[in-house]
Amino acid sequence: MTGILSVQGDFLEHEAALARLGEESFEIRSKEDAERDFDRLVLPGGESTVQRKLVGELGIYDALQRKIEAGIPVLATCAGLILLADYFRTLPVKVKRNAYGRQSASFHVDSEFSGVGSIPMTFIRAPCIELAENGVEVKSRVDGRITGVQFGKQIGIAFHPELDSDTKLLSYWLSIK
Ligand code: GLN
Repeated sequence: MTGILSVQGDFLEHEAALARLGEESFEIRSKEDAERDFDRLVLPGGESTVQRKLVGELGIYDALQRKIEAGIPVLATCAGLILLADYFRTLPVKVKRNAYGRQSASFHVDSEFSGVGSIPMTFIRAPCIELAENGVEVKSRVDGRITGVQFGKQIGIAFHPELDSDTKLLSYWLSIK
């Protein structure tokens, strides 16, 4: 059962993408939701400043932080990546918000994700990873910039697999137990 942080952003697309792969999910919108029993977590894209404000105000932070530190598989996309690195601080990478200039704020490429193969990657006002600390596996780069990493069971990516029909990356994440 996957819990999806659903205070803002594209959580519905994650729900739909997981449902296509037969994975049940529920929306985390309150402290009670965050304290439920679940074994995987998705942090979706959206607006990281809004998300972290709401997570704090709704009292969701501690329960999620505990779950992540306990080692459940996490998939953090775009704004979720920023939260995982800068707010929950469980992913030791340095993230740069809005790393692509206004001209190329949103774009789409097919590129290699290590262990998964070539996949479509949709970037929307995306961050990039400027620095990955020891122990962090770099899984993808686009134009020399790091766009995907894995650290234990946490996957942090700058793009949005839930918006593409290709399911390889989500299947890979679901295979992490
Ligand atoms: N630019 C957003 C932020 O900084 C992230 C964009 C996204 O999640 N697609 O939070």
